Amino acid sequence: MKLLVVGGAGYIGSHTVRQLRAAGHEVVVLDNLSSGHAEALPGDVTLVRADLLDPEAVKAALNAHQPDAVIHFAALIEVGESMRAPGRYYRNNVVGSLNLLQAIVETRKVPLVFSSTAAVYGTTDAVPIPEDAAMQPESVYGDTKLMTERMIHAFHVAHGLPYTVLRYFNVCGASPAGDIGEAHPSQTHLIELACMTALGQREKMMIFGDDYPTPDGTCIRDYVHVQDLADAHVLAVEALHAGQHVAATYNVGLGHGFSVREVLDAVDRVVGTPLNRELAPRRAGDPPRLVADASRIVADLGFSPRFTDLGEIVQTAWNWHKGHPHGFKK
Ligand code: UDP
Repeated sequence: MKLLVVGGAGYIGSHTVRQLRAAGHEVVVLDNLSSGHAEALPGDVTLVRADLLDPEAVKAALNAHQPDAVIHFAALIEVGESMRAPGRYYRNNVVGSLNLLQAIVETRKVPLVFSSTAAVYGTTDAVPIPEDAAMQPESVYGDTKLMTERMIHAFHVAHGLPYTVLRYFNVCGASPAGDIGEAHPSQTHLIELACMTALGQREKMMIFGDDYPTPDGTCIRDYVHVQDLADAHVLAVEALHAGQHVAATYNVGLGHGFSVREVLDAVDRVVGTPLNRELAPRRAGDPPRLVADASRIVADLGFSPRFTDLGEIVQTAWNWHKGHPHGFKK
């Protein structure tokens, strides 16, 4: 198959490109490189530098490369920033996705796999969370993803566009070889911050609250390894190409969670020295427990995550950060 991977130079995109190549598919990446890195791509992948806010460029790429399917990762992803700059987020994530949808139905009407997020659920009491849980995103970021899911479904109904939506839980880790990983300028995620602290780039780790109704009092999240998530995209696009599971939405997670303390203990063990930790107040909007009900993707697509051991997950993140303390910058 030939794939157009939009946003393929980013963290999850670049791991997916690699897994697509390993599965024998041809890949063209379209990316504006606003947060992606050309260095994260294999040498045999064509990179089209273009922006989804330029509809003609998107159509031109589809016409020039004639892909059999499209995988769409391109988005701004910071929850806090989305609350301060909603216009930028709605324009980039929603209008950009609309341009892509329009370009697909006007050119080749090929299947689309879309990167969504557990943030579409907002705070929910459901443990674990099934795909049909109520959706009340609490951030502009989550809202842009939900709006895009709805647009995609409307294009399916009106134009027959085949699609799969993947809702990611807490994506983490890096390629086991340690050569590609998360290199986002402002890190907010627990495992990344812990690795930066271990490298001496930050003074200490804050634990945002230890009085939650969980066994150790800290929040529980479902940490899915980026390579397993990449495999989920390969499974999803291959199924769509075969005409199977069209218009499906899947949670992608392990189906069980780890607490903030468990994660930090794992980092201590992998790094070999304990990190400075400090207890801090709860962070606004953090639900106590977010765990995927991942049974649908397991049943339909045979999703079978390889990274279920927290120590192994953390080890891959640490290998990447230790070898690339400044990301892709030399
Ligand atoms: N967290 C923390 N200290 C940090 C960063 C995160 O205690 O420096 C906690 C955060 O409150 C949440 C969990 O770690 O309970 C995962 O947060 P992250 O930002 O990685 O992902 P989120 O679940 O918010 O998408």
